[in-house]
Amino acid sequence: VGRHPTSQAGPARIAGVDRIIAIGSGKGGVGKSTVSSNLAVALAKEGRRVGLLDADIYGPSQPRMMGVSKRPGSPDGKTIIPLQAHGVTMMSIGLMVDPDKAVVWRGPMLMGALQQMLGQVEWGELDILLVDLPPGTGDVQLTLCQKTDLTGAIVVSTPQDVALLDARKALDMFKTLNTPVLGLIENMSTFVCPTCGTESHIFGHGGVAKEAEKIGVPFLGALPIDLDTRLAGDAGEPIAVGDGSMADAYRHLARRFIE
Ligand code: ADP
Repeated sequence: VGRHPTSQAGPARIAGVDRIIAIGSGKGGVGKSTVSSNLAVALAKEGRRVGLLDADIYGPSQPRMMGVSKRPGSPDGKTIIPLQAHGVTMMSIGLMVDPDKAVVWRGPMLMGALQQMLGQVEWGELDILLVDLPPGTGDVQLTLCQKTDLTGAIVVSTPQDVALLDARKALDMFKTLNTPVLGLIENMSTFVCPTCGTESHIFGHGGVAKEAEKIGVPFLGALPIDLDTRLAGDAGEPIAVGDGSMADAYRHLARRFIE
């Protein structure tokens, strides 16, 4: 799929990587990183060669969520060897900096780090590279969309109005940057009480599907609020690694990308 006619040299491809898909959100805390890690694991379980780049430079969550903490090696001081976790090849700026220190970087340094993670990491042969973006519509998103040959982006939102409001901004940004939106995902869609089975719509319900219909992009699926999902993420073993209803939900989601 060709795009970005504006850049003369053309946006960069990553050698050996078939498709690059960015995962964005407007607001933080909607579960973008949780969805990214689980989708990566689910795609790997479906037999795809998957990479996960944590580009959330100011708040990298993937080392914790994927359960890795080793500093990636760089045998020649130039190329960076990514880590492997749960069948996924992964890299995060969080692995290169002190996890307890704030990253206080200005734009150019940030862009340097992002370019390094895209260009110097030995991703190898991948069917899909998922990029977990920071929330919002800032420098990282701009650089990535303009300089990288993205297949497209997906946007994660909760059904809550404030989240949707910001998701619309992210969608507008992708449109402005000519990045195709491959679909929307509703996270924290509903909550089923584990004791009485009552379903409640803590953040509302169905708003993301409605938005997808309104703007004419695919609605890829809804994921419930689920305690085990949160616990699994905190423990560094995404819920999609195991079996059960949430792993099934992520398997279905993964299949939307490879059907
Ligand atoms: P973001 O990347 O959008 O900032 P995170 O993936 O870091 O969001 O998720 C924010 C918090 O919500 C994390 O503590 C995560 O474990 C939790 N979380 C995300 N999705 C769910 C879910 N479906 N059910 C329960 N907790 C979730």
